[in-house]
Amino acid sequence: MKHFYLPFEKREGFSYSHESIEKLTEYEKYQLSFHPERPKHLDYLTVFDDAEECLENNLHGSCIIQTHRAVLRNGTNAWPVMLIGQQSGPTSDFMLMRKLLRNPVEMQKWNQGMPTPAAFEKAIDAIKLAEEENRIIITVIDTAGADPTEQSEAGGIAWKIGRCMQLLAEATVPTLSVIINRGCSGGAIALTGCDAVLAMEYSTYMVISPEACSSILFRTREKAGFAAEISQITAQEALKNRIIDDIIEEPEGPAHHFRESALQSFKTSMAKWLDKLSKIPPQQIFAQRMERWEKIGQWNTISEEEIVAFEKQVSFFIPKPENVLFVARHKNCHNIVGKKVLDPILYTKLLADNFVCETCGHRYVRLTAHDYINLILDPGSFQEHQETRYIVDKDILHFPDYQQKVEDAQHKTGAAASFITGDATVNGEPVVFCATNFNFLGGSFCMTTAEKIWRASKIAIKRGVPPYCPGNGWRCENA
Ligand SMILES: [Zn+2]
Repeated sequence: MKHFYLPFEKREGFSYSHESIEKLTEYEKYQLSFHPERPKHLDYLTVFDDAEECLENNLHGSCIIQTHRAVLRNGTNAWPVMLIGQQSGPTSDFMLMRKLLRNPVEMQKWNQGMPTPAAFEKAIDAIKLAEEENRIIITVIDTAGADPTEQSEAGGIAWKIGRCMQLLAEATVPTLSVIINRGCSGGAIALTGCDAVLAMEYSTYMVISPEACSSILFRTREKAGFAAEISQITAQEALKNRIIDDIIEEPEGPAHHFRESALQSFKTSMAKWLDKLSKIPPQQIFAQRMERWEKIGQWNTISEEEIVAFEKQVSFFIPKPENVLFVARHKNCHNIVGKKVLDPILYTKLLADNFVCETCGHRYVRLTAHDYINLILDPGSFQEHQETRYIVDKDILHFPDYQQKVEDAQHKTGAAASFITGDATVNGEPVVFCATNFNFLGGSFCMTTAEKIWRASKIAIKRGVPPYCPGNGWRCENA
């Protein structure tokens, strides 16, 4: 066997024509987007001239992001660029890959294509270097996601992802991002905050993989096919939702089967966009970048009357009891041998343990937005922003029962959305305050949240006061 074949490639009647690919299920299109023989970053690097690796090191997983100075030449034009590319594995040559798979030490280095803190650190340094050398930044996206291990979290991966996003947002040189294969989650988002985002025709771009989406929504990975169906992950859907700016055609068919024409098409598109971006006057780069981002996103609005119908203060914080030293034990507490524990628990002990049950590890308190307001801010100082109060989630993906779930969450939490922003003071000092409600669909960040953060940030900048956003959620760098 000289090539790798996905199940649908072996199906009778399948061809590599565009019509044949169009007929695949969304999940098959997802599989196609990371076919092991699809060209990887280092394959696309061959269309550039004078490529020179920089910033390389031997830290774990740092090879998953590769950084090169290079030049793209087209006719009489030559653009100096800094390539920051995610290389999801050692090679797109299947026979070579089969050999390498027998070498566990070599394979471990590639960490299944999931960038580690060391990889993002390299991207951070490359962005700075590109600015110093006045090179256009090109990020190349191909990842199943940022490394989710405890080691990487402890290594500050969330901060490093956040730093990448910040530096790309502030970069003084033009920035361009290209999704070549599969771009998943924070690993992709870290490097796609650019002046333009392009995607290869048969790539996919998503906030979460269909398997992980299925396991969260349906508590099983078995429904990944259905999750893919409703998640709008293809390049065409990304373009329709305006989260990418252009599709790079794979003119003859999928890139793993028609490599040369895909590489040529990539080069043509790079030249077109580098030409366009290099013409932006330096003093307008930031404003144009912000304008692009302002256009992204969809949400609904809600009326004051509708809000008043469910609005109430909800608190899950356990206040100090007045006369007794004990508070009631939470429901379903079992000790190590499975015996039910009913006795009350000492409040001071609970407080010292951050409200985690010492018997079973249950967390008593999941702070609501109102709890944060009451615990952190000067009493009575919080005034919700009128600019953010009336925007609520819009169900563009038509997830099952989503609208009903939002309504239930509104009644449960007394808030219109999972996120609330307003003006307030802390010890008399003015702040712009933002808080999440974990009890509102797990505090899920959606386009409404992003829009609220955006608007609140603008208010904070205008007033010259610090934004203050206590987080609860996984990898809050997205905020
Ligand atoms: Zn317990």
